Amino acid sequence: MSCTDKCDDHWSYDDPSKWSEHFPAARGLSQSPINIELDKTVAQLYPPFVFSPNYNTDEVLFTLTNTGHQVAVTLAGSTNKENQTDLSFTGGGLTGTFHFVNFHLHWGQNDRHGSEHEIEGKIFPAEAHFVHMNYETEQLAVFAFFFTVDDQSENENTEWRKYIDVADRLVNINDTANCTFNLSQLMQTDGTYFFRYMGSLTTPPCTEGVIWTIFPSEIPVKEESLDLLRDNIMRKVYRPVQPINDRIVFRSYQA
Ligand SMILES: [Zn+2]
Repeated sequence: MSCTDKCDDHWSYDDPSKWSEHFPAARGLSQSPINIELDKTVAQLYPPFVFSPNYNTDEVLFTLTNTGHQVAVTLAGSTNKENQTDLSFTGGGLTGTFHFVNFHLHWGQNDRHGSEHEIEGKIFPAEAHFVHMNYETEQLAVFAFFFTVDDQSENENTEWRKYIDVADRLVNINDTANCTFNLSQLMQTDGTYFFRYMGSLTTPPCTEGVIWTIFPSEIPVKEESLDLLRDNIMRKVYRPVQPINDRIVFRSYQA
């Protein structure tokens, strides 16, 4: 469902260049997403990420919600931080413990659009974000993953197909459904090769100070799966790339 007329929160994906009229942070100099030019990245040694065991079980229950701008997935049940399932990580060059907040997908009207970040100008058909927060500092850290269209059924990432099958039913704003997910299988990475830079939320209010970690490996998904989202939920949900200005993008290596 498109959110062009009905939403009263002053933004839509029809014209992201107008977001700054209501959200001045969107005019900042450290906005996301960006295009990553490999020859301008700087190699940096990072310690490995250490994820809590619940990242790799099939048991954790989540709630999917059609927010009008995306289908976001949060932990089901308690909103009280103390009572929540422990989904957290340390390491990766970040300070402190970061807790899972939500994950969601960005996609485009066809395979030539969809990812928010680009690598050497290459656009991917979709991009997933896993948002985490350090509760002590309220610092946000987002993991990004790219997708590639692969119409061989046996190659499709089954956890993402599960997300799409449930999300596809949430046709109205504020519709919700519960589902279990294995976050490790959704993220499909060993966590060693990534890009790191300082940016912003890619949705209003586009607040800056977000630590981005971009994993360049591509997750396979079928075209018909993306078509379900395009046809039944929203046509396109991505912000175009923003100027990098004087920021440095680091690329990881591990000893
Ligand atoms: Zn996002």
